[in-house]
Amino acid sequence: MERAQYSPEEEAAIRQAFSAGETPHCPRDGAAMTTRSIGGGSFGLGYARRREWLICPECRRSVIFDQKRGTRN
Ligand SMILES: [Zn+2]
Repeated sequence: MERAQYSPEEEAAIRQAFSAGETPHCPRDGAAMTTRSIGGGSFGLGYARRREWLICPECRRSVIFDQKRGTRN
């Protein structure tokens, strides 16, 4: 099975939409992407890193979204 990937521009657009609070849509087929939380935030370092896995249900391409939680709470 071929491992399809988004281009860096497409990944950036998806991450931007997600960080803006929108549901990202796949730039290839327009499908609403599903999000899956990946655990593993380290609270001991003063910040928590939240990772989201954005997956297109149509073409199965996926993007990892690394969300660093900064000072705003
Ligand atoms: Zn897709």
